[in-house]
Amino acid sequence: MGARPRIAVVGSANVDLTTFADAFPRGGETIFGTSFNLGFGGKGANQAVAARLCGAHVVMVAKLGNDLFGEATVKNFAALGIDNSLVGIVDGVSSGVAPIFVEPNGQNRIIVVKGANDTLRPADVEAAASTLRGVDAIILQFEIPLETIYFTVQFAKANKIRCIVNPAPAQPVNLESLSDADYFIPNETEAEALTGMPVKSIEDAKACARAFLKKGFGRVILTLGERGSLLASGEGIEVIPPFTVAPRDTTGAGDAFIGSFAVFLAEGLPEKDALTHANLYAALSTTKVGTQKSFPARAEFEAEWERRAGKG
Ligand code: ADP
Repeated sequence: MGARPRIAVVGSANVDLTTFADAFPRGGETIFGTSFNLGFGGKGANQAVAARLCGAHVVMVAKLGNDLFGEATVKNFAALGIDNSLVGIVDGVSSGVAPIFVEPNGQNRIIVVKGANDTLRPADVEAAASTLRGVDAIILQFEIPLETIYFTVQFAKANKIRCIVNPAPAQPVNLESLSDADYFIPNETEAEALTGMPVKSIEDAKACARAFLKKGFGRVILTLGERGSLLASGEGIEVIPPFTVAPRDTTGAGDAFIGSFAVFLAEGLPEKDALTHANLYAALSTTKVGTQKSFPARAEFEAEWERRAGKG
């Protein structure tokens, strides 16, 4: 273990275009909105930011369009100290965007356009191979082509690099083809969608985790929102208790959890301690509004950890 863990994210970067209005326009209608917010998002980028804020050296392998959003995203990575040398700009396709429309009651409507994220291919991972061979962990999500995810899992296995797969958002997938990943980390909704089993109670979650183990995964972690997380492996199943917070906006909690878990583990913390730390890091992210903007800096996390003395 080096002093500063090295984490690679092979994944998505989007720009969230959030428009607030008193009502949604009807077909053919134009209305005035009340405000607008541009935010950097995409599960890959979010997890990269969480890992970076936790103190890791982070390299992002991603694709952006040759447009204003691509340019701004590259600048955002640079401003955060994320290595963007393996972020490709592609012509003829937009950057990934998510126009989000929010009504005063909080109801939202979201359209995700994958754009350049859909052009991240196994060849791009091969081109990044020499850098990837030097990292402590590779993190993957489901916002890039599945063939790239399958390829990267095998690349990580062949090179003995820890590989973390976050199957978000859930989609039909060959689970056996992913089971060489070291960690498979769905949330409750994704676990339900991928197994067809309900995940309402802790007992349901345990049964669902067992179903993933049967597919060949060695270690499965279910994130359970305010109930914390659950670790399942051949050694058994254990619930990792949550920390009590006053949540304001839980968007991005899963990304905070995964990015920080990768770092805590790479720093050499025992697995369950790394999960407890990730539970707190993610819980703290829910106390602020926004996604990347809600992720605490390492010093802020440490102060809170100290205050709670790791007691939950
Ligand atoms: P997602 O954001 O993908 O839906 P979860 O809701 O499962 O993911 O949240 C991820 C992690 O964030 C949880 O495992 C937990 O550690 C933490 N977390 C989320 N919501 C809360 C909450 N209300 N209170 C405490 N911790 C929370």
